[in-house]
Amino acid sequence: MSTIQLAQIKVDSKTSASQSELRIGQLRIPLPNRFPISPERNALKPAGVKEPLPGEVAVLARLAPPDTLKRILTQEDALKSTARFLSRETSPDAVRLLYLAFKGGAMVKETQDLKTILDLQYLAGLDIITVQHTVSGELVKILVKHESAQIGIDLRGAFHYHALRAMEEFKKKNPEVWLHAFQVPPKIRLGRSPMPCSQGMILPMFSIDSFSRWIVPPPPTPLTKEVINVFDRKGWGALKKRDYEEIRGNSTSCNCAVCQGKDLEPFYEGKVLDVLAKAKVHDHLAQRNELESARASIRRGEFLSLLNSKQYPKEFLRQISKEA
Ligand SMILES: [Zn+2]
Repeated sequence: MSTIQLAQIKVDSKTSASQSELRIGQLRIPLPNRFPISPERNALKPAGVKEPLPGEVAVLARLAPPDTLKRILTQEDALKSTARFLSRETSPDAVRLLYLAFKGGAMVKETQDLKTILDLQYLAGLDIITVQHTVSGELVKILVKHESAQIGIDLRGAFHYHALRAMEEFKKKNPEVWLHAFQVPPKIRLGRSPMPCSQGMILPMFSIDSFSRWIVPPPPTPLTKEVINVFDRKGWGALKKRDYEEIRGNSTSCNCAVCQGKDLEPFYEGKVLDVLAKAKVHDHLAQRNELESARASIRRGEFLSLLNSKQYPKEFLRQISKEA
């Protein structure tokens, strides 16, 4: 296990965004950033992409409903096989981090159980050992008490405005702590209806340093190509097929390994699950690319101007200033 440190921290002038360097052992990782999670790696093949997914930190995700969690906590065989399974998922040189998606009321609260989860991570040879917290009012108190070098908050597929504001306050006092958000949904739901604004792309303004995609979206029944959200590089939105075609006139404006600068038509060809896989891989590649300009703008103190130059973040900013 290596030491983890944030360095070269530059804070934006008008937002709480910061640009920094995440140092893990010899690695120097630019932040803000987006790191790949298991379902995205699994999507490479159906998306027809041969190259591995870029990302300096590999998030290894497992669904953990109560029975699975109980087996891991109480049966040595289950613990060992989970560790083996996890250690095979990525190449040995990747920086690996475990994320258990607790489902159906599953949670770890006993000290003994917490210790078992930590042991699992050591057994699996993970590079970053995490204790997971869900969003709660107690969170910040716990954080201050533990003086952790890194924090992972679980957004559970939603936009938790107050929790994000709490993280923002925390980071003001602790700029050197690395904040990662798990389970970030494609877009923002503020009030009753979702906004097309990409949630991941605006997270830096709440001082989130890095994030990874949600892994358990609610089942859209039935799943059709029409309801799949695709990241729009031009306006930083997440658009459904009809809007994407209408607004962007059949053009992806994207040169990622999936889109390859082609029209939207081939993107939506094939089976529904293949299109979903393409969307996952495209979202990851396209957002990592767009985050380069986010980092550059934060370094210049101009992140707010960048957000206002993008159609959907601009609409989001207008909305929160109304609600604030
Ligand atoms: Zn693309």
